[in-house]
Amino acid sequence: MADMNYDLIVIGGGPGGYVAAIRAAQLGLSTAVVERENLGGICLNWGCIPTKALLRSAEVLRNAKHAAEYGLVIQNPSFDLDKVVQRSRKVAGQLNGGVKHLLKKNKVAVIEGEAKLLGKGQVAVTKGGAAVGTFGAKNIIIATGARARTLPGLEDDGNLVWTYRKAMTPNTTPKSLLVIGSGAIGIEFASFYNELGAKVTVVEVMDRILPVEDEEISTFARKQFEKQGMRIITNGKAGNLRKGADSVTVAVEANGKTEDITVDRVILAVGIAPNTENLGLENTKVQTDRGHIKTNANCQTDEPGVYAIGDVTGAPWLAHKASHEGVIAVEHIAGKHPHALDVRNIPGCTYSHPQIASVGLTEKKAKEAGYEVRVGRFPFIGNGKAIALGEADGMVKTVFDAKTGELLGAHMVGAEVTELIQGYTVAKTMETTEQELMQTVFPHPTLSEMMHESVLDAYGRAIHF
Ligand SMILES: Cc1cc2nc3c(=O)[nH]c(=O)nc-3n(C[C@H](O)[C@H](O)[C@H](O)COP(=O)(O)OP(=O)(O)OC[C@H]3O[C@@H](n4cnc5c(N)ncnc54)[C@H](O)[C@@H]3O)c2cc1C
Repeated sequence: MADMNYDLIVIGGGPGGYVAAIRAAQLGLSTAVVERENLGGICLNWGCIPTKALLRSAEVLRNAKHAAEYGLVIQNPSFDLDKVVQRSRKVAGQLNGGVKHLLKKNKVAVIEGEAKLLGKGQVAVTKGGAAVGTFGAKNIIIATGARARTLPGLEDDGNLVWTYRKAMTPNTTPKSLLVIGSGAIGIEFASFYNELGAKVTVVEVMDRILPVEDEEISTFARKQFEKQGMRIITNGKAGNLRKGADSVTVAVEANGKTEDITVDRVILAVGIAPNTENLGLENTKVQTDRGHIKTNANCQTDEPGVYAIGDVTGAPWLAHKASHEGVIAVEHIAGKHPHALDVRNIPGCTYSHPQIASVGLTEKKAKEAGYEVRVGRFPFIGNGKAIALGEADGMVKTVFDAKTGELLGAHMVGAEVTELIQGYTVAKTMETTEQELMQTVFPHPTLSEMMHESVLDAYGRAIHF
């Protein structure tokens, strides 16, 4: 006998789970969320938000250091690491409280503890090993997210070798740092610590940093990071980790040579692993593929009445993808006919300095997909607002289908591009062509004018370059 029955139980209160629960409540479903740690999940507590708070501190410090360029006098700008971290934790705490409030307002029950599927719409919840109860649900959404992946021989110890949780709550600023992995998470930490004065080396196994981004954008970003003093090793493999009292030596193999690199701390940013253990999947027909739960376009698993969303279902591992899938799953449960999510319309952002943002196909991927492309480019140096801001390094690149004029992809590097990309995301979702984009009026002076100019350039009409 269940202690309580719901229309929907959501396992995991991250941006996938809590958004799904609120949408379910809006649609009149009696809903509970089971959360074993913090409402808001990784994103609000240990991911998107606290890292952006840290990066904001780094940005303010950088601006203070460059104050003279703006005619301002700020002597010896410095930082207090504890206070930087405290601010980041406070921001995370505030948002965690906000999610609690939203769930309460929407009358979503929150069950604290670890959930396990028992099959047949039953979920057992325990806390600290003790039973909390057994709950019944007509439908279940698995939104258990993911955690940092480690590699054999490259495990974190929370002291000398960090993954993201420790990397965002350091008690000391490393003088030197090796970041293994150059996806968004690795690059954001590399950028943060570089701004704080650490000597940062990044090792990437692929032939370029930010490997999912357009090649030109990766190359541009790399040059900027190197100009800021970072050392970047691509086609590099890190291994043979040896720990000293307060340092770590890592063997980095690249271009046929092996080099020992000794640093104060190592950050592992080599991807994430889905949270599917001890979830009782064996009591269901739910299938996995390399650990990630397999789902269809409506987020249904192979077990009737069981859905899965967000990081636990695989790439792209992004909060907005998790939330969007949450809404799709719930609307399907409620008998609506949600639009399937087109992965090519999911923007991706990296909040380093410079920022990187993109949506859709890279030039290379578009060509590989058989498109004949028209490519537009516009440099930040040609934009009045960028120069006024003192942010003249960057570029905007657009990729069009030469035959139809459809916008296939947009790729940006430079100041505030993580805010700008949404303009192209709306355009792409609406299957816009170059005509509508050219006819759109962009406000002056804004960085967004570069988005216009890049489109114009694809058709040989750029004005300011
Ligand atoms: C350092 C870092 C920076 C990031 N920055 C960004 C960014 O800028 N933008 C972006 O879009 N994404 C970013 N991400 C990724 C983002 O955090 C994830 O994509 C997002 O959190 C996924 O949401 P989710 O709901 O699928 O899972 P999660 O946020 O991981 O939430 C899952 C929740 O389920 C709970 N749970 C797990 N198992 C159980 C169980 N058995 N019972 C009960 N509860 C359970 C967990 O405690 C967790 O709270 C970042 C990630 C990291 C690590």
